[in-house]
Amino acid sequence: MNTFENFNLSKALRFAIADLGYERPTPIQEEAFSVVLSGKDVVGIAQTGTGKTFAYMLPILQQLKFSKQVTPRVLILVPTRELVDQLVSNIGGFTEYMNVRTLGVYGESNINIQKQKLLEGVDILVATPGRLFDLAVSKAVKLRDVSQLVIDEVDVMLDLGFRTQLTNLFELLPPRRQNIMFSATMTDEVDALMDEYFVAPERISIAVSGTPLENISQQCYAVKNFHTKANLVAHLLMDKSQFSKVLVFVSNKKIADRLFDILEEQFRSAICIIHSNKSQNYRIRSVEEFEEGSKRILIATDVISRGLDLDRISHVINFDVPTYPENYMHRIGRTGRAEQEGKSILFFTEKEESAKIAIEELMNYHIPEADFPEEVEINNELIPEERTRVAESNYNRNMKIKTEPVGEQEKKEKNQKVNLGGSYKRKLEQKYKKARTRGDKNQNKLKKKRR
Ligand code: AMP
Repeated sequence: MNTFENFNLSKALRFAIADLGYERPTPIQEEAFSVVLSGKDVVGIAQTGTGKTFAYMLPILQQLKFSKQVTPRVLILVPTRELVDQLVSNIGGFTEYMNVRTLGVYGESNINIQKQKLLEGVDILVATPGRLFDLAVSKAVKLRDVSQLVIDEVDVMLDLGFRTQLTNLFELLPPRRQNIMFSATMTDEVDALMDEYFVAPERISIAVSGTPLENISQQCYAVKNFHTKANLVAHLLMDKSQFSKVLVFVSNKKIADRLFDILEEQFRSAICIIHSNKSQNYRIRSVEEFEEGSKRILIATDVISRGLDLDRISHVINFDVPTYPENYMHRIGRTGRAEQEGKSILFFTEKEESAKIAIEELMNYHIPEADFPEEVEINNELIPEERTRVAESNYNRNMKIKTEPVGEQEKKEKNQKVNLGGSYKRKLEQKYKKARTRGDKNQNKLKKKRR
C-alpha cells in the first residue's frame, strides 16, 4: 500500500503531514519522491489539485539541512504573485517543525523590504522571474548557491511570454544544479526549453484522472487543411440544439485568432475566445458569458483553458491534434462531467495522423472515424503555416530539392543556438564566402586578387 512510511521521512515532516491531515501520498507524490531525491533533472506533468506542490517539496525538504547561510539554496519560480503567496503559505505548513527560512518576492511590491529580508538570510526563495532578475542584477540576492531550481507552472510561464526572463535567470545560476520543472500541459515551448537547458531529464506524469473514458463518446474526421476544418466546424455548429455548449480547442493563439475571425462572421453573438494575449478582463468576460450560456461556443488554447471548471459542456471539438497525448486527455475530460455523457470530436490532417495514433495508443482505444459530410466545402487554400517553401538549393539543379513546412523551418531557426563559436573563422568565411561550388572558389580567388 502507498503510505508516507515508505519514504522514510524525518520526524519534522511526519509531524507536519499529520497536522495537514494528509493520509497517504497522491500518485504524483509517489512518482516524484525518489526521482527528485536522486538529484536528476525532472519534468513532471501534473495539474493543480494533484498535490504536485508537495510532490516536489517533500523530497527537497527531506534533504534540506539546517544552515545559517544567507544565500538561498532552493529557488522556486512561478508565473504570478498569487502563486508566490500560495506557495510560501504551503511551504510554511510543510516546514512547521523545521528551521527553514522561506521568502516570497514578486513585482509591484516594495523591493526594499524584500532586499532587507534577503540580507537576513533565506533558504527557500519563491519568486516571479522579473522581480528576481531585478534583485539579482542589483546584487540584492546572490544565486550562486542555488543547488535546486524548481519552475512551477512552466507552461503558463512560457505562454505569458516569460521565456527570455527565464533564460536570463539561468545565466545567473550555477551550472551544476538540479532542475525540476512542473507543467500541467506539455507544449512545444516547454519541450524546447527542456531540450536546451535540462540534462537528460526524467519525465514523470500520472495517469490523467477525471472523467472515465467510458463517459465520453469520441469521434474523428479526416480533414484536409485549416480552411476545410473551419468549414466543418461551422457546419457542425449550425446544429444549435445538439451543439449547445461547445469548447473548441486549438493548439496556439495564432490559430485561435484566425479561427475566431472566420467563425465570428457567422456566429457573432454566440462565440467567444480566450488565450493568453487577451486581457484578463476580456478572458473573465468570455468565460462568464460561456458559463451563463449567453455564448455557446468558446475557442480556447490548451494552456489557458486549464483551471477553468466549466459545467455541462455538450461537445469538445479538437480543432487540431495535440502533439502531446496527455493534452488530449485533459481536453476531452472537460466534457462528460458529473455522470453525463460527453462528446468529443477530433479533426486531423494527414500530417497530424501520427499524433492521433499516439493518443489512441495512450488510451488503448481507436477513435471511430466519421464520414466527411458531403455538403461541407473542401477549400484548397492554405494558411502560411501549411505552405511549404523550397529550401535553398545551392544553385545546383541536379540536387534533390528539399521542402519543408514554413512553420518547421522557422522553429528550427528560432531554436538554433545563438553562440556559434569560432567567430574568427566565421568572419573569414563571410568575407570570402565559403566555397560551395567551383564557381564560388573562383569568385573568392578573384576577390583576393583584387585586394
Ligand atoms: P496542489 O496540486 O499542489 O495545488 O495541491 C492541491 C491540494 O491537495 C492542496 O490543497 C494540498 O494541500 C492537497 N494535498 C496535497 N497532498 C495531499 C495528500 N497527500 N493528501 C491529501 N491532500 C493533499
